[in-house]
Amino acid sequence: MAEPQSGEGKREEPEPAGAAPLLWVGGGLPPRFRWVSPSLVQALGHAPEAWKARGFLQRLVHPEDLERVLDTWRTVARTGEARTVELRATTADERSVRLSVELNAIEPAADGAGELVGTVRLLASSPRPVPPAAGMSDLEKVAQELARAQREREELINAVDGIVWETDASFRFTFVSQQAERLLGYPVQQWTREPDFWLKHLYPSDQDWAPAFCIKAATECRPHEFDYRMVAADGRVVWLRDLVTVVSEGGSFRKLRGIMVDITEQRRAQENLERTVSALRATLDSTADGVIVVDRDWRITTFNARFQELWNIPSRLLDTRDGRALSAYMGPQLKDPEQVRARVLELFAAPEQESFEVLEHLDGRILERYSRPQRLGDTIIGRVFSYRDVTAQRRAQAERERLLREAEEAIRVRDDFLSIASHELKTPLTPLKLHLQVLKQRGSAGQPVPLHHAEKALAQVVRLSGLINDLLDTSRIQAGRLELRHEPVSLRELTHEVLADLRPVSPHHTLEYEEPGEPLTLHGDRSRLAQVLVNLLENALKYSPTGGTIRVTLERQGALARVSVADRGIGIPADQKAHLFERFFRARNAPISGFGGLGLGLYICRDIVEHHGGHIWVESEVGQGSTFRFTLPVEDGADGALAPPAHLPGSS
Ligand code: ADP
Repeated sequence: MAEPQSGEGKREEPEPAGAAPLLWVGGGLPPRFRWVSPSLVQALGHAPEAWKARGFLQRLVHPEDLERVLDTWRTVARTGEARTVELRATTADERSVRLSVELNAIEPAADGAGELVGTVRLLASSPRPVPPAAGMSDLEKVAQELARAQREREELINAVDGIVWETDASFRFTFVSQQAERLLGYPVQQWTREPDFWLKHLYPSDQDWAPAFCIKAATECRPHEFDYRMVAADGRVVWLRDLVTVVSEGGSFRKLRGIMVDITEQRRAQENLERTVSALRATLDSTADGVIVVDRDWRITTFNARFQELWNIPSRLLDTRDGRALSAYMGPQLKDPEQVRARVLELFAAPEQESFEVLEHLDGRILERYSRPQRLGDTIIGRVFSYRDVTAQRRAQAERERLLREAEEAIRVRDDFLSIASHELKTPLTPLKLHLQVLKQRGSAGQPVPLHHAEKALAQVVRLSGLINDLLDTSRIQAGRLELRHEPVSLRELTHEVLADLRPVSPHHTLEYEEPGEPLTLHGDRSRLAQVLVNLLENALKYSPTGGTIRVTLERQGALARVSVADRGIGIPADQKAHLFERFFRARNAPISGFGGLGLGLYICRDIVEHHGGHIWVESEVGQGSTFRFTLPVEDGADGALAPPAHLPGSS
């Protein structure tokens, strides 16, 4: 290995005490400089960009020294062992300088591409062309040159934006740059005079670890970097990042050198950022909505626990961060996965779009999904989806709407009823009045009173009292006060009587009747059961205005008697049948103008039949006629041997 040679006219330059370390950081294959300290830039004159350029090492180092330098560089980069190499280099103004470079590995790598830090010492340099000073001796010129170089160095060190420092092996500062005073407010002399200056002014909770960390690294001759706090003279807490190199000799360290950089602002910004992130996290976790954020490549960025819960997603799936796999897992939970998937694809294709959708789950839940782009400045970097379970709200809303509809319907029914009731109650009054007037005129004139006027007047009174009875029965049923007698009833006899009363009513209708050979008897309220039959028969007559056969059938079906009244009348629309037995209900095809009635008869019939333990229903087709049927539980025994059945209220 060729020794570096001092060129002609070069002089040894003693290193000034407390000079700023001339540092660089480099690495890679072929080796390149990555960072160079401003002091080194200043010392050799090459601009920082020139240092970082490819092949700069070859331009900097004297060709005869180059191979040896590269060799040492690679060894240190590979093994991590510190080495010092001396070499000749060329400054920007073409002077030749002799340097000693201590190489320390930051991160060794087996292939020799590891990171190094170089600490440069200027051993000698060829003089700068100095204008000859008249009358100055050679010695004076050298002294002047040295003083100037010293000044320049100090200026350089003090210009570094950080505290350049050096300690001896007992960690006492032997040098600190002027920045120390500016940054922390203590005079530079205090740093070097007080033996434990650093320790004393460390922030209390950092005293526990920072010195121990530094001592360990130093004794292991490791360059190191760490962040800690110091308390400034005015009480401020200053965050520092300390980049330390270790100067060692024979395996044990002799000095420490470093730069402390003020990172208070940076730490504050970082703390603010962490606080913001934690606030966002807390907000995300406390919201009732499930939230997930994915980037534009469908990678899951973040999500909250509610999201996982809403979609019942296993943690291992979320851990994969694979948005596509997640979507495939969520799809089958929906009623219409294809439509939802198509919409999501659409949203990814149009990143700026916002969207609102309602998703129906197979399990009946309803989720609202809101989605909007995630922006970083002006760039869209992803998409946020938030899900809200609105099942309960929607159900409550539907229930409210149903109740409202029912209330409206009840009002409509009441209004209809009032107009129908007043019409129905008024209708018999006019003929009644006319007949009574005729009777009165005849009576007062001493003329004979025609019987048919009295009969017609009576018929209107019967009609009126029928309507009033229906109203009274209805209010009794409503109040639960419809009382029934318990007496033995023969259904055959009852039917005979009802038919006998009704037979003369309509000449246009034919009444047919069929009954079984055996007696059908039960315990119940005879007149109320007759009321049911009369009502069904009157309806059959009324709603078959063109006449036709009305067929009454009495039959036994096991323990039940079944009574049917069939007509060939107007029938009942299919959608109305379910409501037929409701209070005040009148089918659409039976206008009040054509068919009188309060819509109460069937309501009363149902109540009576059900109170006898029976059931009533209708089979009908519009235009074809209707068959009303009801069943009643009957006794097995013959007429007259009856015990009261248990279903009748008050029976014992
Ligand atoms: P109304 O006094 O109006 O006849 P009901 O309660 O007896 O009251 O009957 C309710 C409604 O049922 C009637 O308005 C009519 O629309 C329908 N209806 C009842 N019986 C028949 C029938 N035999 N044929 C067709 N429609 C009927």
